[in-house]
Amino acid sequence: MAKIFCIANQKGGVGKTTTAVNLAAGLAKLDQRVLLIDLDPQGNATMGAGIDKASLESSVYQVLLGLGEIGTARQTSETGRFDVLPSNRELAGAEVEMVELEQREHRLKQALATVENEYDFVLIDCPPALSMLTLNGLCAAHGVIIPMQCEYYALEGLSDLVNTIKIVHAKMNPELKVIGLLRVMFDPRMMLSQQVSSQLEKHFGDKVFKSIIPRNVRLAEAPSYGIPGVIFDPSSKGAQAYIAFGKELVERIAAL
Ligand code: ATP
Ligand code: MG
Repeated sequence: MAKIFCIANQKGGVGKTTTAVNLAAGLAKLDQRVLLIDLDPQGNATMGAGIDKASLESSVYQVLLGLGEIGTARQTSETGRFDVLPSNRELAGAEVEMVELEQREHRLKQALATVENEYDFVLIDCPPALSMLTLNGLCAAHGVIIPMQCEYYALEGLSDLVNTIKIVHAKMNPELKVIGLLRVMFDPRMMLSQQVSSQLEKHFGDKVFKSIIPRNVRLAEAPSYGIPGVIFDPSSKGAQAYIAFGKELVERIAAL
């Protein structure tokens, strides 16, 4: 059965999509069968995987509203060797349109049941909000991977996210847990990065992944070519860090 993980943090621009796309491609390199679900109307994960969000016949939007199946909406990322359930702006309407549906927070979970067996990992790239879309991700998942930048305000938002995860765990999805916190865009030359990083280790202990993703321009350049960073420039520090993270994740899960 697939391990289903949300990549979530309600703060914007913290590296969720970069983590989702590179982890998907990194796990594929480790011969894992991966489905990446783009749950963000921005469609950044879709584009980063080399799929044109402007020309989708079917997307996660149809799947959530019961107008289509994952089996037909998914595509293959030719550049990353994993499957993608793509998204675009249309998804922004789903939030409102789902209000009338029964069990609206469980739509993604129900849809995933049809393809789950085909994958080792399902990664869900969440939008920067604790919205109905993110809630669908959290209800479908076994765990959450939280990417965060080591800066002062990062810790502030973290408690809201952890509280939301606790509520979902208690009321909607007893399987849900925090798999780990991933330090991203790390700049070792900054004193503050070091300080926040050690604070995180102190508060969250084992929940902090050992792998640290450095700030690396190759990771930022890759999406404009529609190629995951780990494929675009495998020798770059950023790519190597994401590959190491993929290995750490596989090991961590085996130990769970
Ligand atoms: P949003 O909340 O809008 O969905 P996000 O959390 O998904 O954003 P990303 O889109 O992954 O964040 O990253 C934000 C920006 O930072 C992007 O331009 C991305 O290319 C860049 N970026 C992400 N990680 C790194 C890194 N390790 N090194 C350099 N640039 C990075
Ligand atoms: Mg994003």
